[in-house]
Amino acid sequence: MKIGLLALQGAIGPHAEAFRALGATPVEVRTPEQLADVDALVIPGGESTTMSKLLATSGLADPLRERLAAGLPAFGTCAGMIVLARTVLDGRPDQRSYDAIDVTVRRNAFGRQIDSFEADLVVAGLADPFHAVFIRAPFVEEVGDGVEVLATVGGHPVLCRQGSVLVTAFHPELTADLRLHELFLTLTD
Ligand code: GLN
Repeated sequence: MKIGLLALQGAIGPHAEAFRALGATPVEVRTPEQLADVDALVIPGGESTTMSKLLATSGLADPLRERLAAGLPAFGTCAGMIVLARTVLDGRPDQRSYDAIDVTVRRNAFGRQIDSFEADLVVAGLADPFHAVFIRAPFVEEVGDGVEVLATVGGHPVLCRQGSVLVTAFHPELTADLRLHELFLTLTD
């Protein structure tokens, strides 16, 4: 299983380590040719406005939209969740998202005072809480009918799944807990 890691911007090293530890093969994706060669794609944290621009200039925007529409399994963390969302609130006017999961997200939704924090999340389907690191994180404001909300903070969804698309408002790659990467791998089968 080749897991593509979108490597235009943001930190992919910890995601690569997590997938390697689980026996998958992470490969960097920067070009349309590389995208065509992967079985799933991770869109990491970083800055969604910058990622949106780089997707356009790298020629990846259209192929990515096509592969997602054709059911490419995708895992978006933080900025990656914003990129995969149907609708983005508080984005830049020219920011594009890819409508791979039927959610409306608000960028930097937790506000300045608590723009970064950690929380032990109760996650549907996991026996023990997941220690989650939030960094200038978005949250989900609206979910469509087909979306399963797996965890919330203050009533706001921060972990959602629709089919083989998984999104987190936090950074699961920054802790040693591999359970969400493992969950994503089960969605790619
Ligand atoms: N605030 C960033 C954005 O809007 C996301 C931050 C992150 O990925 N840690 O894209």
